[in-house]
Amino acid sequence: MLDSELPHSFPEVERAIAEGRCPAEIAEAHAEWTALQKRLRELGSPESYYLKAMNCPHHHRIFAAQPRSYRDLPLRLAEYGCCYRYEQSGELFGLMRVRSLNMNDAHIYCTEDQFADEFRAVNDMYLHYFRVFGLEKYRMRFSTHDPSKLGQKFVDEPALWKKTEDMVRAVLVESGIDFVEVPNEAAFYGPKIDVQVWSAIGREFTIATNQVDFAVPAKFGLRYRDRDNSEKIPLCIHRAPLGTHERFIGFLIEHYAGNFPLWLAPEQVRVITLGDDPALIEYARPIVQRLRAEMVRAEADFGSDPVKAKIADAEKSRVHTMLVIGPRDLEAGQVSLRLHGKGNVGSRPVEALVPALLEAIRTRSDAPLAA
Ligand SMILES: [Zn+2]
Repeated sequence: MLDSELPHSFPEVERAIAEGRCPAEIAEAHAEWTALQKRLRELGSPESYYLKAMNCPHHHRIFAAQPRSYRDLPLRLAEYGCCYRYEQSGELFGLMRVRSLNMNDAHIYCTEDQFADEFRAVNDMYLHYFRVFGLEKYRMRFSTHDPSKLGQKFVDEPALWKKTEDMVRAVLVESGIDFVEVPNEAAFYGPKIDVQVWSAIGREFTIATNQVDFAVPAKFGLRYRDRDNSEKIPLCIHRAPLGTHERFIGFLIEHYAGNFPLWLAPEQVRVITLGDDPALIEYARPIVQRLRAEMVRAEADFGSDPVKAKIADAEKSRVHTMLVIGPRDLEAGQVSLRLHGKGNVGSRPVEALVPALLEAIRTRSDAPLAA
C-alpha cells in the first residue's frame, strides 16, 4: 500500500497509538471523536490518555502546528494509522468487526480551486486499487445534503454545499464512473462517497469512504494565508480507499475464495522434497533461503511423508506455487513447478525460476511462470 501512497506525494506522518483526552474546544468541533473516545477505556494516567480513536484530529493539529500559506497547499498527510474502537464483545465479528483497525488514511488540505484536481486524484487512486484487486463490479454512492435541513443535520453553508457537490458530481460524470446520488445522506460537514463493491460470488460490501469536509477545518482553527494576504480556511478531503484493512482482507478472502493470487498469498511458495533424502534437502534448502532473502513468503516441507500427501497438503492450504524436487531435478539443476489448482506445469531450471517468481510477484501476474 505504501508503494501506492508515495508516488501521490502523501508523506507518512505519525503512528500514535494513544491520544490525550479530547479537549473541550475540539469536543465541540468533532462530536464523532468525543463519542468514539467515550467508548474506549482510559489508560489511567494523570493526563488521561486514550487509545487513538481516529486519525483526523491528529492530522488537523499537524496542519495547525505552523503558519501555512497558499504555497503549502495542497498539503496531503497520509498515515498507515491504527485506531481502536471499543466494540462490545457480542458485536465483534471475525475480521469484519474488530477493536483494532488499520487504514491507509489521509487528509488533503486544499483551496477551493484545487479541490476538483485533488478529488479526481483520489478517485483515480480508488480505481487503481480496484484494478489491482481485480474488482470488476463496483459503484460509488454519492451522498448529498438536503437543503431543508441546513443548520440541523447539515452544516449551514449553502453555497459551499452547492459548490462542492457540483464539483464532486462533475468529476464522477467526467470519469465515467457508475454512481448513484443519495440525497440527505451526507456527513454533517460535507458530501461523501462510499464505495460499494461486489465480491466474485456477488455479495455486496461497502469498503471505502471519501469525504469532503468544509466545516471541521474552521472549528480546528485551520487557516492559510492566500496570495492577497487574506486568511482563508482550507477544504479537507478525508480518504481511506480500502476502509479498514481487517474488513478489506475479510472481503478479499471471500472474493478470491481463499485462492489468493501469488503476490497476495500468505504462503507464496512451498518447496517440497520427494521424501526426506538428505541430498535432496541439501539441494532444496538454499532455494528456500534464496527466496526468503528476496522477501518471498516461502516455506519448506522436507518431511518423510509420501510426496503425494505433501502436495495434497499444500493444495489444501492453498499455497500458490509448489516447487517439487526429486532425484531427477537434483541431477538436472531444476525443480518441478506446480501451481495451486492447475497441477504440474513442467520443470524449470532453478536459475530461471527465481527471477520468474520475482517477476510474477512484481507484475501481479502468473504469466512469467508460464514460460
Ligand atoms: Zn478523517
